[in-house]
Amino acid sequence: MKQIVDFIKQTFNTNEFIPLHEPRFIGNEKKYLNDCIDSTFVSSVGKYVDEFEKKFASFVGSRYAIATVNGTAALHVGLVLADVKSGDEVLTQPLTFIATCNAISYCGAKPIFVDVDHETMGMSPESVKKFLEINCEVIENKCVNKTTGKTIKACVPMHTFGHPCKIKEIKDVCDEWHIVLVEDSAESLGSYYKNKHTGTFGKIGAFSFNGNKIITSGGGGVIVTDDEVLAKRAKHITTTAKIPHPYEYVHDEIGYNYRLPNINAALLVAQLESLDSFLQSKRELAQSYKEFFVKQNIDFIEEPKESQSNYWLQAVLLKDKQQRDEFLEFTNKNGVMTRPIWRLMNELEMFKDCQSTELKNAKYLEERVVNIPSSVRV
Ligand SMILES: *Cc1c(COP(=O)(O)O)cnc(C)c1O
Repeated sequence: MKQIVDFIKQTFNTNEFIPLHEPRFIGNEKKYLNDCIDSTFVSSVGKYVDEFEKKFASFVGSRYAIATVNGTAALHVGLVLADVKSGDEVLTQPLTFIATCNAISYCGAKPIFVDVDHETMGMSPESVKKFLEINCEVIENKCVNKTTGKTIKACVPMHTFGHPCKIKEIKDVCDEWHIVLVEDSAESLGSYYKNKHTGTFGKIGAFSFNGNKIITSGGGGVIVTDDEVLAKRAKHITTTAKIPHPYEYVHDEIGYNYRLPNINAALLVAQLESLDSFLQSKRELAQSYKEFFVKQNIDFIEEPKESQSNYWLQAVLLKDKQQRDEFLEFTNKNGVMTRPIWRLMNELEMFKDCQSTELKNAKYLEERVVNIPSSVRV
């Protein structure tokens, strides 16, 4: 254990406390922020929002990008665009950050939990397929859950710590069952599955720019889609559903105040310029962790097959819960911040009555996965 702490301190070249993930502002951040402040356009409209949306869409290879106030809002709107309404059901994975399930709940819908793959820590296409074959039938182009009588409108897989899940295979299953695919790509900016950027497989993808993500605007998010109608509607409902008019306030539905302020977008434009160097730095960090942990006889979690991961949060897989607890205890006591993976969503009070498949892999990973310091090194 001491060797591990020493290695991490050496890797980050410090004897001070090492956080799990720190943001880095090493480019044009201050320049663009100053420019934004000088322009007085710090709030809901401004050139940085437009510039960011254009550059982001081009980076991930989607037709449209719509900036939002955070990633949870992006997911929420994504589900609204997928027509998820009160009483509907949404397939997702139990091994995820709470935001995924919160967004589903904001629509008045219920999550159904399907197991993850061991290798990717993300939704298993086989588990989805099996659940649907056992429990569901397609009636008039709708996927009806025979157990509850409800419609399964959408499916929200997540790319855990930036490692892509088998998203193409999941998409094929969703298409066959008339389920809209909404990708929670909050953690996977810069990650590709079969050479296509994550978040662009689904009808809608959602990303987050919270302070701990690979690039940050303090708080922020974005929706991506190739569908022009959905893109227009996303902009409309995230900006209070106001009908464009030179001076009158007329709104045609209940919208949201979910737009990203221009000042946050200014920060984000600068962060996006640093993304390639961040990705490279994280890949190098992963390589040195991998070489070190193999000698310690500890599994370092690598990018899955046919994928390129952004290695946003690096992780190890301990042998059992006891070894995990010892690892957490020792590292945190000795100035190296480490964290266990999330408690499974189906174990939380709010979701404990939701339907789920057998969750063998999720349970296994929950007891063993630990995140280790992953900041970009400067
Ligand atoms: C960060 C994150 C989100 C969105 O988070 P915000 O803090 O609202 O930007 C959603 N899903 C997952 C899996 C995340 O990690």
